[in-house]
Amino acid sequence: MEARYTYRLQVSPAQQRALQEVFDSCRFVWNTSLGRWSDLWRYEQVPLGYVSMAAELTDWRGRYEWLAAVPVTPQQQVQRDLDKAVRAFYDKEHPGRRPRFKKKGSHSTASWNVNGFSLRGDRLCGAVKGGRTPLRVVWSRALPSVPKSVTVYRDAAGRWWASFVVRIGPEDLGATGATTGLDVGLARFATTEFADADIPNPRFARQAAKALARSQRNLSRKVKGSHNRAKAKTATAKVAAHTASQRKDWQHKQACKLARRLDRIGVEDLRIKNMVRNRRLSRAISDAGWGDFLSVLAWQARKVGHEVVRLDPRYTTQTCSGCGAKAKHRLGLAERTFWCDGCGLVEDRDRNAARNLNPDRWDKSVRVGQGVDGRKTLVPAGTEAA
Ligand SMILES: [Zn+2]
Repeated sequence: MEARYTYRLQVSPAQQRALQEVFDSCRFVWNTSLGRWSDLWRYEQVPLGYVSMAAELTDWRGRYEWLAAVPVTPQQQVQRDLDKAVRAFYDKEHPGRRPRFKKKGSHSTASWNVNGFSLRGDRLCGAVKGGRTPLRVVWSRALPSVPKSVTVYRDAAGRWWASFVVRIGPEDLGATGATTGLDVGLARFATTEFADADIPNPRFARQAAKALARSQRNLSRKVKGSHNRAKAKTATAKVAAHTASQRKDWQHKQACKLARRLDRIGVEDLRIKNMVRNRRLSRAISDAGWGDFLSVLAWQARKVGHEVVRLDPRYTTQTCSGCGAKAKHRLGLAERTFWCDGCGLVEDRDRNAARNLNPDRWDKSVRVGQGVDGRKTLVPAGTEAA
């Protein structure tokens, strides 16, 4: 399987200018190829495939000296990305968004495949003109294997990064014999069947939200187009970038712990949950970042040969995990305790739901023909290399 390993880059002002030229050339190739594609389609109803796009690139590089002066690999990668976006756009089952033109200043990323770069010590070579300007990588941890590709980018906070795609073999942990359901909620981030495996709400989230709101307020007070506004904008982006990396780090740590301990984890299919619940709660669901977390969890589980199973979340809250009877009333969000009139079970509401989501229990219920529809997790393309 593939994983992304991302490192800070130390980039001199001269290198920044050189990289900006690469980014600009990528934007040019994207926009020009996209223009060719829409013209061809509009006037001749002919699709522009990757091969003809690549031929045009060769032509442009012959005509424009500035384009030929920067490495060709990222430009080819841009065309491959565009080709993918166009195919997704025509996909009948899961149509993607129509590819858009990139605005000036909005494109600060470029990718090299294995032929386009090399690593020598702490240097990333080949990224800028003729390999004369190797970029310095801050190796915060070792790469597990030879990378397949690298993406160099500048984030909104102005920091530079190199993100390598590497192959990692799954580590076979073997079976631990433990399975659980996992219920995500507002009171606790996630509840399992084992109290000591529960994940409390992250402490940093509230602070981060406050800090972000503060810097956004500060930004809104600045006059448009002023120097101070530009400064406030960078500050806001820095806060947002910091929060995002904190959250990602936290998610991976929590998911890793769970995935190593449990063979199989049953989770709610949030797509169904979102359809079923009202809009306000749907918003809370996306705010809490559970969808992201579950993707991370699925990836961490696959990494150690374990499994995450997505299940239909309907009735998991109202059903008794002791006897399987369905409670007669719908539990309000404020009711923290589940009780069963049938067998007398009294249990924490989320713990009861977690038990109902245990995939082992689920398979059994499918076998006895209760018609519950369990489906295997499909990790959306691209998320596993997050
Ligand atoms: Zn019961």
